[in-house]
Amino acid sequence: MIDRHVLPDSFGRVMRDLRVSLTDRCNFRCLYCLPETEEAANFYRGKFDAVNNPKPRKLALPAAKPRSEILSYEEIERFVRIAVTLGIDKIRLTGGEPLLRQNVESLVQKLRRIPGLTDLAMTSNALLFPKKGRALKEAGLNRISFSMDSLDPMNFKKITGRDGLAEVLESIQLARELELTPLKVNAVIIRGINDHEIEDLAQFAQREQLSFRFIEFMPLDSSRTWLKEIVVPGREILDRLKKRFDLKPVLSSNPSETARRWRFNQGSGEIGIIAPVTEPFCGHCNRLRLTADGKIRTCLFSLHEHDIKTPMRNGASDEVIAEMLRGIVLQKESRHHIGEPEFVQPGRTMSCIGG
Ligand code: SAM
Ligand code: SF4
Repeated sequence: MIDRHVLPDSFGRVMRDLRVSLTDRCNFRCLYCLPETEEAANFYRGKFDAVNNPKPRKLALPAAKPRSEILSYEEIERFVRIAVTLGIDKIRLTGGEPLLRQNVESLVQKLRRIPGLTDLAMTSNALLFPKKGRALKEAGLNRISFSMDSLDPMNFKKITGRDGLAEVLESIQLARELELTPLKVNAVIIRGINDHEIEDLAQFAQREQLSFRFIEFMPLDSSRTWLKEIVVPGREILDRLKKRFDLKPVLSSNPSETARRWRFNQGSGEIGIIAPVTEPFCGHCNRLRLTADGKIRTCLFSLHEHDIKTPMRNGASDEVIAEMLRGIVLQKESRHHIGEPEFVQPGRTMSCIGG
């Protein structure tokens, strides 16, 4: 008998995790995601020539969608409710920068009331969290992950295009105070940019008793300057950290977890390595993504998206949407093809897809 309350794909994987992008806009310009000048996009390749190009050109950023094309909170709530009846139990709100959506706490409050949703988390660059944190906690947010690629204010600005390290550090303290735990902090490590900070970032994690994730750079940047040579393999990060810290592996009962984790022998901090490029975990992937403009993506690297907004706006019933979602999940890709000759970078960038 077919179980109507689960979302299996055609490779035996069962979907549990839905990442909802609330906006394709962002107040940062991270050079691995949305670099805004050619100089920023290219400085890790040494290509930018300040003599011949004295004025850095503005790079074309992906055009933000008009407001009418962005899902309303009511539409997001309805879709999440349907997905939860099909077995999704974990929602992560992301973007772009999710805290740029006005009154985002009202969405958190709506989602929190959905029976069957066990985990409601968010990923944010933290810039606006000092203003929003308390309201999010009161609305029922369970957990938050912040991005912090450097502990050096100058390097932080070079990477994100903005001054913001002080706000991230303040946000980490506030999130801890608000018990939005386990508190995770993510860093994308790029050779020649912030790989010299790997040990310092881990030391920060140990001192602050954080769960710190080192992420490999993926080909999802808007400038399409990704090169495999500047990816720092997870193995290399781990080997370096093992030389410096006494690390014990954390055994997880969840095979779909993206990070391999190690805890520090002292204190409650831990590090995680997310290595989608050099050690893909596609075989256990249980994630789906809903873009801000209402498209379902079955893989970060999907070349095809499935429009769910149009049928929702044209009056399709919940049953029809549920049936569509089942059909979409059956088309989930077996794996990504990064590094292979046939790899094609998706048309949309991480900031539009929702990381
Ligand atoms: N703006 C929020 C933030 O930065 O935390 C949420 C959205 S961001 C797209 C989600 C995550 O994707 C962040 O942790 C970011 O570092 C990561 N990310 C963005 N572009 C990436 C890339 N090209 N490779 C690997 N991770 C990337
Ligand atoms: Fe914005 Fe997050 Fe992309 Fe940085 S990684 S540009 S903060 S969406």
